[in-house]
Amino acid sequence: MADTSSLTIVIAAFNEQAALPVLHPRLSTVLDGLDLDCRVLYVDDGSKDGTWEVLREIAAADPRVSLLRLARNFGKELALTAGLDQVHTDAAMVLDADGQDPPELIPAFVAKWREGFDVVYGTRSRRDGETWFKRFTAAGFYRVMRWLSQTDIPRDTGDFRLMSSRVLDALRQLRERQRFMKGLFTWVGFRQVSLPYQREARMAGATKFNYWRLWNLALEGITSFSTVPLRLATYVGVFTALVAFGWGLWIIARTVLWGDPVQGWPSLMTVVLFLGGIQLVALGIIGEYLGRLYVESKQRPLYVVSEALGPHAPG
Ligand code: UDP
Ligand code: MG
Repeated sequence: MADTSSLTIVIAAFNEQAALPVLHPRLSTVLDGLDLDCRVLYVDDGSKDGTWEVLREIAAADPRVSLLRLARNFGKELALTAGLDQVHTDAAMVLDADGQDPPELIPAFVAKWREGFDVVYGTRSRRDGETWFKRFTAAGFYRVMRWLSQTDIPRDTGDFRLMSSRVLDALRQLRERQRFMKGLFTWVGFRQVSLPYQREARMAGATKFNYWRLWNLALEGITSFSTVPLRLATYVGVFTALVAFGWGLWIIARTVLWGDPVQGWPSLMTVVLFLGGIQLVALGIIGEYLGRLYVESKQRPLYVVSEALGPHAPG
């Protein structure tokens, strides 16, 4: 029985000239074995190495491949958005260019999709080639996120996932600039199912996410899916005010009972500095949200495309 459904594999690549020539043959073998109309869309996220040339060679040799080149490095979230915006097939699948999400698992995702699920997301049961510190911080992030946010973002889940066309349609309506894709993927809802897999080590090249970038991504995730930090300032304020009130009563009582030799400079300094600190933190939190509001209000396009190539490319 021939299946006429179609699938697009979307791959964001930033400086992946070493990994892509290894990935594509692997991917190609898998797609050959699939009973589907398969396409591949590579998004070059403003790479500074030979990624674009490598991609052109791949596209020239494989008619399934289309290319999209962004005008500069917009970051993985926007590169994926740019790619997913171009998908017009029955489903799309997102994959990392470095082979950490093994393409050999695509048939398993497709099988779940055929069972009727709209989103099939890969959950990492093991992470090779990553330091304990990265695993520890990643685990911590997912837990904080679940605690702070109403959207239940599944833990240890990356962008490795398959989405049906109605999920893609829903996703296309979310045009926020501060994008935390894992959150948006979950936010849209529909029938979702997890597929556990072992995350492999990177095939070639180096990770683009250092801890500073990951920290910023974490902030993005928290601020775009939770306003709890804003409320936190209120609670801390109420708590300190109550403590201060109790303490004030005690000082009055002490003065009335035992008189008031001038004392208390150290405690005064402590209180002033403590409150100053809390106020600055609260201001900082407000600033984080305000800054994002500002960026959002400018209504700039999410990304700029410089070139598109291939049979299914736009334009
Ligand atoms: N990536 C991208 N734009 C960027 C950074 C990364 O498109 O600005 C792509 C990268 O090429 C890879 C994927 O995002 O396909 C995941 O990146 P990486 O492997 O560096 O992240 P890690 O797996 O270490 O979290
Ligand atoms: Mg990687």
